[in-house]
Amino acid sequence: MPTYSRIDVVFERGEGPYIYATDGRRFLDFTAGIAVNALGHAHPHLVNALTEQAKKLWHTSNLFRVEGQETLGRRLAEATFADTMFFCNSGTEAWELGVKLVRKYHYEAGNTKRHRIITFEQAFHGRSTGAISASNQEKMVKGFGPLLPGFDIVPFGDLDAVRAAITDETAAIAIEPIQGEGGIRSASAEFLRGLRALCDEHGLLFFLDEIQSGMGRTGKLFAHEWAGVTPDVMTVAKGIGGGFPLGALLATEKAASGMTAGTHGSTYGGNPLAMAVGNAVLDVVLAPGFLDGVQRTGDRLQAALRGLIDRHPAVFTELRGHGLLLGLKCAPANLDVVAKARGNGMLIVPAGDNVVRLLPPLNIEDAHIEEAVAILDKTAREFAA
Ligand SMILES: *Cc1c(COP(=O)(O)O)cnc(C)c1O
Repeated sequence: MPTYSRIDVVFERGEGPYIYATDGRRFLDFTAGIAVNALGHAHPHLVNALTEQAKKLWHTSNLFRVEGQETLGRRLAEATFADTMFFCNSGTEAWELGVKLVRKYHYEAGNTKRHRIITFEQAFHGRSTGAISASNQEKMVKGFGPLLPGFDIVPFGDLDAVRAAITDETAAIAIEPIQGEGGIRSASAEFLRGLRALCDEHGLLFFLDEIQSGMGRTGKLFAHEWAGVTPDVMTVAKGIGGGFPLGALLATEKAASGMTAGTHGSTYGGNPLAMAVGNAVLDVVLAPGFLDGVQRTGDRLQAALRGLIDRHPAVFTELRGHGLLLGLKCAPANLDVVAKARGNGMLIVPAGDNVVRLLPPLNIEDAHIEEAVAILDKTAREFAA
């Protein structure tokens, strides 16, 4: 179906931050499959994990214990706020389970009225009927009604609006710490702490969507760590599989207490092949010094991008984001910037609010930053010409 206006290029292989098209062109890939290929293309440790597991066992179903799930679950629990988790195949599935979990939590606690979730304007939680119901983006919802009831959508960053939206039917507050599709809009640390406090005050679950901001992209394993808050529930996907379809819902034992045997399931979720890759990604991301390296690389790329904005204020007007989850707000149409950058050998991603997203692999080097900024300089000069 033509649900994407696809760009007319076919890729045949990738290596680190570079991707090669069938017509011989090489691109610097700052899309990373939309923050998915966290370690670039064809990372040897991931290729090895995938191929070794492929020779042994791909899939068994969740009727049986899956050793890789137990390992990955234990490692993620040790590295985060979570006590427990469920593995699925995508971000949307993780979001759907999150909605179920918060409702079930209150139901089991005897608060059967509490089912509504406060979400935010320009949010993106996926494309299922449940996930689009949590957003107000017209292109996502128009014509797909009736939407799932139970979401109260308020302005991003407006704590008073959140407070005013809380009723005795509210179950949770759900937010991306940095809106990705919405245009790399960061929630301030103060706002996130305010939401946590409101949740505590009213007995709500704090539900974070870190599908795009997590797995090291901001230089900490999860973006909420910068604000010094912890959620009760959190969706993870994209970078967690390094390119293999994988998602997870992480939760505290208490928040997940209603999710007993038979209440949820997935045929493929967390199968041995996915778990082998997930564990291999974590080997690299949790290795000593890796996340510090992402912070340093992010700082250098941001400094270089600030220079770019200074040189071309008529093209790039604002730098947004954190670590290597970055956005440049554009004066010309962002799609034109994306197209011109591609013509100059670099792939970037459009986002809402006329922003272009720069989502390089987390392990890029200084030479890639220089190359990226040189291409963006050239692209900006083309607008002036
Ligand atoms: C990509 C994304 C999703 C949806 O994930 P899929 O794997 O495409 O289902 C949900 N939330 C956020 C914040 C995302 O960036």
